[in-house]
Amino acid sequence: MKHDSDVLIAGGGLNGPALALALAQAGLRVSVVDAQLARARANEGFDGRAYALAIASQRLLSAVGVWPAVAGEAQPILQVRAADGRAGERPAPLALNFDSAELDGGPVGYMLEDRFLARALADAMAASPHITLIPATSVVAQEPGPAGISATLSDGRTLSARVLVGADGRRSTVAERAGITRTGWGYGQTALVCALEHEQPHHGVAQQVFLPTGPLALLPLPGNRTSIVWSETDANARTLAALPDADFLALLRERLPSGLGEVRLVGPRFSYPLNLTLANAYIAPRVALAGDAAHGVHPVAGQGLNLGLRDVAVLAEVLVEAHRRGEDIGAGDVLARYQGWRRFDATTLALGMDAVNRLFSNDNPFLRAGRDIGMGVVQSIPSLRRAFMRQAAGLLPNPPRLLAGQKL
Ligand SMILES: Cc1cc2nc3c(=O)[nH]c(=O)nc-3n(C[C@H](O)[C@H](O)[C@H](O)COP(=O)(O)OP(=O)(O)OC[C@H]3O[C@@H](n4cnc5c(N)ncnc54)[C@H](O)[C@@H]3O)c2cc1C
Repeated sequence: MKHDSDVLIAGGGLNGPALALALAQAGLRVSVVDAQLARARANEGFDGRAYALAIASQRLLSAVGVWPAVAGEAQPILQVRAADGRAGERPAPLALNFDSAELDGGPVGYMLEDRFLARALADAMAASPHITLIPATSVVAQEPGPAGISATLSDGRTLSARVLVGADGRRSTVAERAGITRTGWGYGQTALVCALEHEQPHHGVAQQVFLPTGPLALLPLPGNRTSIVWSETDANARTLAALPDADFLALLRERLPSGLGEVRLVGPRFSYPLNLTLANAYIAPRVALAGDAAHGVHPVAGQGLNLGLRDVAVLAEVLVEAHRRGEDIGAGDVLARYQGWRRFDATTLALGMDAVNRLFSNDNPFLRAGRDIGMGVVQSIPSLRRAFMRQAAGLLPNPPRLLAGQKL
């Protein structure tokens, strides 16, 4: 049976395009259908969204040929600090401090703005002869069969492929139509996202201040700029989001660690309600899920996209190897290899971030003392500190090839 493509990807956000590039590089024919207009996310202005990319994610972007286009816009993260905090107080003295010098010298990761990453992915897809991008169109129906899957698009067309990948985000309708149920809960927290310009340099330091109502992350951007992800209770966040910039900034200032000097807001402010949503399976007949469609997590450790790129690396490797062996890449046993490799790691990390958020987003004096002691213990044992650093950098034992920077 002749299909329109080998792999049909629903979702042209970040993980969908990264997967398309990895597969196309190995000679597979890929169609990417995205509900948004092409390049709508890749406009020129800074919109406040930026990602902390672990080293392993940066290696994947290098392997699929995207990194050279964004390297000049990326800010290396040289140090990671975490501490308890309260409005108007300096962070607690027992803080965690990870230095990249302890990690074979290189940075722990990079900060990269969404606009640069989205544009580089879109340009690389446009340049690939193996990728067909179908923008401003949704997958609205799907029908798996013995030799492939056919998908109906919102413009009435029907496309067929050996496998349909749902990279269609937290509300994945590909998963829903495949009968994949989800587990999850709301956090009662909303992330307030914005960017600051400041007087003093950040020296490539990423900071996490654990406030009683939620974590506040300061992530260094190129120049004297910092991306802020401030998680607050929904009620507080609603009030804060409604404030004029000057009042919002005054409250944020009270919670910032010292050292940045005068700060001002640059660009708009955003609000993201936070929830955990885990797919109960990553595969169904002729269907695989990747990225937020498989696991939407709390942004407390900036791991959402990094987790998605781990899916991309594993799914691409499984599909390409099956293709090279002449197997049907959409067959159940092939897709089961992907699920078996990924699901445990992703669920463990998602629940780990959930636990960190619960442990730190409260003002219970016993928990506060316990976690401060815990951070002090990790800080004082170099081997434990290095283990945490390697986890933050995404440096796994026996990684899939793309996460080690190797092409498939
Ligand atoms: C406040 C905040 C801060 C974050 N910070 C970080 C960070 O520092 N580091 C990090 O690693 N991660 C971070 N994340 C997580 C990261 O943003 C997500 O994990 C990532 O964007 C998910 O990408 P995706 O491609 O899986 O999904 P999405 O980006 O959600 O893309 C899904 C795409 O699917 C399309 N779509 C939906 N339905 C259909 C359909 N039926 N047919 C076709 N297309 C469809 C949509 O148009 C969209 O383009 C953060 C998240 C938040 C909320």
